[in-house]
Amino acid sequence: MSQLLQRVARAIGLAKTDEAPQPDVPTGPRAIEEAPAPPAASKPQARRVALLASNEAAALKWGPKWLARFDFDVEQVASCDEMMTYLDTRPLKVALIDINWWSTAESSAAFAGVNDRPALPVILLCSSEREVREGLDSGATDVVRRPYDWRVLGRRADVFARAYETEVELDLTRTKLEEAWKEAEHKAELLEHRASTDSLTSLPQRHTFEKTLTRALDAHLRAGSGIALIHMDIDRFKSINDSYGRSGGNQVLVQAAQRLTECVRSPDFVAGQGNGLVAASLGSLGGDEFVMMVGNVHRPDDVNPLAEMVLDTMSKPFSVEGNEVFASASLGITIAPADGTSAERLLQNVELATIESKRSGGSVYRFYNPSFNQLTKKNLELDRLLRKSLECHEFSLSYQPLVRVTDGQIVGAEALLRWNHPEFGRVPPLDFIPVAEETGLMVPIGAWVLRTACEELRSWIDAGYPRMRMSVNVALCQLLRGGLTEIVEGILSDVDVPPELLELELSERGVLQDSPEILRQLSNLRSLGVRLSVDDFGTGNSAVAYLKGFDLDVLKIDRSYIRGVPENKDDAAIASAMVAMAHQLNMTVVAEGIEREEQLEALRSWNCDEFQGFMVSPPVPSEEFRELINARLSGLPDGPEIEGTR
Ligand code: C2E
Ligand code: MG
Ligand code: MG
Repeated sequence: MSQLLQRVARAIGLAKTDEAPQPDVPTGPRAIEEAPAPPAASKPQARRVALLASNEAAALKWGPKWLARFDFDVEQVASCDEMMTYLDTRPLKVALIDINWWSTAESSAAFAGVNDRPALPVILLCSSEREVREGLDSGATDVVRRPYDWRVLGRRADVFARAYETEVELDLTRTKLEEAWKEAEHKAELLEHRASTDSLTSLPQRHTFEKTLTRALDAHLRAGSGIALIHMDIDRFKSINDSYGRSGGNQVLVQAAQRLTECVRSPDFVAGQGNGLVAASLGSLGGDEFVMMVGNVHRPDDVNPLAEMVLDTMSKPFSVEGNEVFASASLGITIAPADGTSAERLLQNVELATIESKRSGGSVYRFYNPSFNQLTKKNLELDRLLRKSLECHEFSLSYQPLVRVTDGQIVGAEALLRWNHPEFGRVPPLDFIPVAEETGLMVPIGAWVLRTACEELRSWIDAGYPRMRMSVNVALCQLLRGGLTEIVEGILSDVDVPPELLELELSERGVLQDSPEILRQLSNLRSLGVRLSVDDFGTGNSAVAYLKGFDLDVLKIDRSYIRGVPENKDDAAIASAMVAMAHQLNMTVVAEGIEREEQLEALRSWNCDEFQGFMVSPPVPSEEFRELINARLSGLPDGPEIEGTR
C-alpha cells in the first residue's frame, strides 16, 4: 500500500470495521423485470458510465443490471489502484463504491480519490453505523447501508448522474458565457477606440479631442498660461480627391497626419524656440481638417514658428500611387483665454480663422479675429442672395474688346460677369465669384454665362459682323464637377456657334493644375474644337514645360506684369520673355490691362499679338459693345477684316 494511501487513511481515521454486514434486500430477475423504465424522453444521449467498485457477489450480480436499467454502462474495477486510475482517467457520471471490499486504508484512499473530483457523485456502500457516519463526513454524495435495494440505488444513481450532468453543462455554459463576455468586452473596447479615433489617421476624433481640450483648458487657465489651437485645412483637397480618387486623397491625409505628428514632436519646436511651449495634442476633425493644441502659450507670437513649420512641411510633395502631388495647407490659430475659454467656442473660432487663410489664397496662417464671425455671416447671406439672383436673372455680362496689336482691330471679346443687386447695387466679380466657387453655385452661374455669351456671339454673326471670337472664364468647380464638356457641346449645338470661335479661359492660379482629372477634362473640351487659354499668366507657378502639357492656344499675361511697363524694367523683361516663350509654344499672346500708349508701344516691340484694356474700352454691356463695333465698321469704309484666329 502506498504511503499516500496510508496517510489519507490516517487523516480520515476510517478503520475497517469488524461489524458483520447486514444482509442485502433480496433482489432478483423478477424485480428487474418489474422495475419501471425511466421515461424515454428523459434518456440522455451521451454514454453514461457508472463505476461499480465492489467484490460482493450480490452487488456484482444485481448492480450492473439495475444500473443498466437506468441507461448506465457499468464498469467494474478489480483493485483500489485500478479504481484510482479509473477515476483519474475515464469520464464517469457516478461511482458506487463498496467500502467493505477494501482494507481500511484502501477505503480511505478511495475516499481521497473521490474527494479529488468533488463534483462526481459517489455513493458509498457500507455496513456499520460508524461507516455511515464516517462516510458522510468524507464528503460522499450519499451513503447507503446494507441491505441494499438495487432498485432504489439505481434510481439514486440516475438522479445524481443527472444532477452531475446538469452541473457539468452549467459549468460549460458558464465557461462559454465568460468567454462570450470577455469577447464582448474586447469588442466594446474596440468600438470605443474606433468611435474615438479616426480610422484613417489614428488621431483622436473631434469628440475626443474636445474632451482633451476641455481638460487642458482647465489645467492651463488655472495655472495662468494660455493654449493655442492651430487648425489646418489642406488646400484644394477636393481636386486631389477628384483627380486621384478617394484612395489617393486618403494617402495624402495619412501622410499629412504623420507630418503633423512629426511637427509636434520636433525638437526644433519643443526645445529649440526657448519659449517653453508644451508639446501638442493632435486631432482629426474629419475630411482634410486637422487640429493641434499647444500649451503654455503666453503671446500669440509664440506659436508662429510651429505654424511656419506646419506650412513648410505641407508644401512638400505627397506621394500618391507613385506620383508626386503638391498640396499646401491653410492654417487658423486661436488663443485661449483671449479668444474664448470653452473648447466649443475655440474650435468654432479657429475654423473661421482657417477660412480667412483660404480666402487669402491659402498656404498662410491667420490668427482669429472677432470680425471673422461677421464675415462668415456675410458669406452665407451672399450665397443666399446669389441663388436668388440666379433665379431672378439679376446677372448680366459685359464684353471687353480683344484688340490686335498690329492694326488695332477688334478680334473678339472677353465676356465678364456682372451682378447688379437691386438693393446693394453693383457687386464686383472678385467679391462674389470666390464665394460662388466655394459653394459650387458657380456651376449653374457659369453655365448661364456660357450660354448667354454664345447667344451674344450668335447675334453678332447674324448681324453680319466680321468673325470674332468670344472668350469666357471658367472656374475650377465647373471643370471638375460641372460636366463642362457636355454643357459646352449642348450650347454650341443649341445656339449654332462654330466651336473655334469659343475660347475658354482657365486661370493659371486657380484652375490649371497638373492633375490627371483636369488634363482629361481639358482634352475632352479640346475634342469639341473650342480654344483654350491660360488666364492671369504669371500669378500661378506653372513652369514652361508644364504649360506645354496642357496644349493651350492662348496665353494671357496678367495685368500685374503690364502695370509698370515700360518704366519697370523687370516687369518689361519678364513680360517680353513671356511673349517669346508663348510664341515658341505656338500660342497667341494677349496682354491684359493696357491703359496707356507706352504700354501698347512695348507690346509692339515684343511682337505681342493682342491686348485688352481700358485704353480701348473697359468691359461694356452688349449694346455698347455693338456700338463700338459699328463705330469701327463705319470708320473703315472698306470693311475691316477682323479675324478670330491667327
Ligand atoms: P480676368 O478674367 O483676368 O478679367 C480681366 C479683368 O481685368 C476684368 O475685371 C477687367 O475689367 C479687368 N481689366 C481689363 N482691362 C483693364 C485695365 O486696363 N485696367 C484695369 N485696372 N482693369 C482691367 P473684372 O471684370 O472685375 O473681373 C475680374 C475677374 O473675375 C476676372 O479676371 C475673372 O477672373 C473673374 N470673372 C469675371 N467674370 C467671370 C465669369 O464669368 N466666370 C468666372 N469664372 N470668372 C469670372
Ligand atoms: Mg479672363
Ligand atoms: Mg485675367
